[in-house]
Amino acid sequence: MNRGGVPIARIAGIRISADWSVLLIGALLAWGVAGGAVPGQVPGTPIWLAWIVGIIAALLLIASLIAHELGHALLARRQGIAVDGIRLWLFGGIAQMSGDWVSGKTEMLVAAIGPAITLVLSGAFVASSWLLVQISAPPLVIVVTEWLAAVNLALLVFNLIPAFPLDGGRMLRGFLWTRTKNRMTATIAASRAGRFFAVVVVGLGVLDLFFLDPIGGLWLILIGWFLDSAARGEATGEQARHALEGVVVGDVMSKNPVIVPSWITVELLVEQYVMGHQFTSFPTHSIDGRIDGLVTMRGIKQVPPQQRGNRRAIDIAIPADRVPVARQDEPITELLKRIGTASDGRAMVYDGGTLVGIISPSDVARLFQGGPGKGAARVAA
Ligand SMILES: [Zn+2]
Repeated sequence: MNRGGVPIARIAGIRISADWSVLLIGALLAWGVAGGAVPGQVPGTPIWLAWIVGIIAALLLIASLIAHELGHALLARRQGIAVDGIRLWLFGGIAQMSGDWVSGKTEMLVAAIGPAITLVLSGAFVASSWLLVQISAPPLVIVVTEWLAAVNLALLVFNLIPAFPLDGGRMLRGFLWTRTKNRMTATIAASRAGRFFAVVVVGLGVLDLFFLDPIGGLWLILIGWFLDSAARGEATGEQARHALEGVVVGDVMSKNPVIVPSWITVELLVEQYVMGHQFTSFPTHSIDGRIDGLVTMRGIKQVPPQQRGNRRAIDIAIPADRVPVARQDEPITELLKRIGTASDGRAMVYDGGTLVGIISPSDVARLFQGGPGKGAARVAA
């Protein structure tokens, strides 16, 4: 899931944003109420009124989803896990966290709070439906509360299925992790459960598609497909995390980078430095010896050959303040969180005030391929 989306609110310091696909799901939900529940239970309702009721119901359901996700986000933050925000999209909501789980118990707690909130909401909607019937409230109001109770209950059941990465699956992994003290095997097991469930959902979707309800079937197939790729992604991510455990920046970096004067022309840079070196990026220094930028091959290639004589290295360098800085003894996993596209996937490694190495995407890729290098040796150990 990429970050971003359109910001819609900020609650208790948590940024809530929405994908455009939320409009689609909101419209489908409103349509379900306006074209299904309302005419079914209150026949003769004018279509415009049915749609108003449908839209209100859809908005209240989205608010229920936000409450569920806020539970995850706020509890995670209280447990010291970095939370980026809440994202609403095609399949509901996601609390995005960049911080890592500190323990299985924490994961269990943070996973359980969402369904707990949905349970409370379902209970509240069931109780209000009953109360509204007792006081003979307008039937359209009752339709909305009953629908919200039903959908929240369905979401509760779905979320509790022990299939990674659903909440139930997260609770399962947290539980297995706590019991076996092995996060890796716990993740693999929870991810298998997730993939099994995904196959079941796709199977049901196919049956639905041919025999019952084509749109519902297509929807189930989509959900199953999403669950399968998410479960696979979690397992792969865990294997990568495991592989990188204990690896520090100094193991991975390309040592002794070639530092070039920032005032030389690109032409000179290519002739004197790029040819004959295996490096794909070159730090630049100013006249006073300060490191002021980083030239990458991508930057060099963007300069047409006929302009190389009158453009200088510093003109095409990424400014030094946009390149993340690391220490040699820093865990590589920490650095990877900071490396972004602004620096073309690169970081500069300092020992005290001296530049001693560069991390480039190929250094990181080598780690995963188990190729030559000290870092790879440590991965295998
Ligand atoms: Zn949840």
